[in-house]
Amino acid sequence: MTFSALSHLECPKCGQTHDADQVIGLCPCGSPLLARYDVPAVTLTKDELAARPPDLWRYHELLPVRAPENVVTLGEGMTPLLPLPRYGREVGVERLLMKDEGLIPTGTFKARGAAVGVSRAYEVGVRRIAMPTNGNAGSSWAAYAARAGMAALISMPVAAPEICRREVKVVGAELHLVDGLIGDAAAFIREQEGYFDVSTLKEPYRIEGKKTMGLEIAEQLGWQLPDVILYPTGGGVGIIGIWKALVELRELGWIDGPLPRLVAVQSTGCAPIVQAYEKGLPESEPWPDAKTIAFGITVPKALGDFLVLQAIADTDGCAVAVDDETILAEQHHLARLEGAFICPEGAATFAAVRRLRESGWIRADDQVVALNTGLGLKYPETVPL
Ligand SMILES: [Zn+2]
Repeated sequence: MTFSALSHLECPKCGQTHDADQVIGLCPCGSPLLARYDVPAVTLTKDELAARPPDLWRYHELLPVRAPENVVTLGEGMTPLLPLPRYGREVGVERLLMKDEGLIPTGTFKARGAAVGVSRAYEVGVRRIAMPTNGNAGSSWAAYAARAGMAALISMPVAAPEICRREVKVVGAELHLVDGLIGDAAAFIREQEGYFDVSTLKEPYRIEGKKTMGLEIAEQLGWQLPDVILYPTGGGVGIIGIWKALVELRELGWIDGPLPRLVAVQSTGCAPIVQAYEKGLPESEPWPDAKTIAFGITVPKALGDFLVLQAIADTDGCAVAVDDETILAEQHHLARLEGAFICPEGAATFAAVRRLRESGWIRADDQVVALNTGLGLKYPETVPL
């Protein structure tokens, strides 16, 4: 068996297939591309998997890097899946679990996409990357680029968390600040020459890293799936990735039955996916004047919005928006009850758990996984002294 079962790239919009072993961004039709694998050729067993090191590269057959020597790693993956008994009892969901992505290099789930994206970019010959970011993705990609010996140019809004600026600087990447939103940072990056643009979903492999959250949740639950998974949704790569992971595991024959209902959680200050879901539209409309304390999910129009909406529809999921006041209250509440200082984006998913339990959409006996996407320590301003 080869290290990776990667076979080709496929466009989820026009259906065209592309050679995976080239430097490629979007499909010529403008859609993101998805990596496809020769799943029937994977001979890995659950017992063999269980004996591997506890990082995301344990799933290398379903990841795109072909040669082990091209793996760029800081030890990412296999984050805890923590029961939250005290908090769960209070919101009326006894079987509530938190997948805690705060315990990963660079302190956020962005490390997964960066590890796999940088490794694969390096493998196909890229040596200079550039990207716009709301902060955490930029700091992660800068760190992995440094680890790979690649140059990185990161552009972020001046309002992004200051810690992310420091993280970009300390690893020696070039930082460009814009007085605006992530779209303005993206416009700057598009003007630069000599770099490979690794913006969200503009290259095919970040999603493969994010996918490992879904693989881990399934493995950590003994290949029995939860009823509901909630995800804070900006660009939406995580929720698309989790959906993709579960579909691939089903193809592998390792899981069966209905997939967990996937929930995209946004802030009322920027809720294009929720609006499209409520109107039954296949794509979102750009959200005007986007602003929320959950800065990481301030994405007025996501390139992969149609895939997020498909993931929700395919799993009988839903999309909900919660306001900033509720997000902060939930962050503090969870910390007091369970000792976990999570990021505002993660807190949004807990506010959604409470809301969906009150409405009856989540049942009392459902097993529910809420994603915390990063460390609260990166957002000290959320706790006044
Ligand atoms: Zn296409």
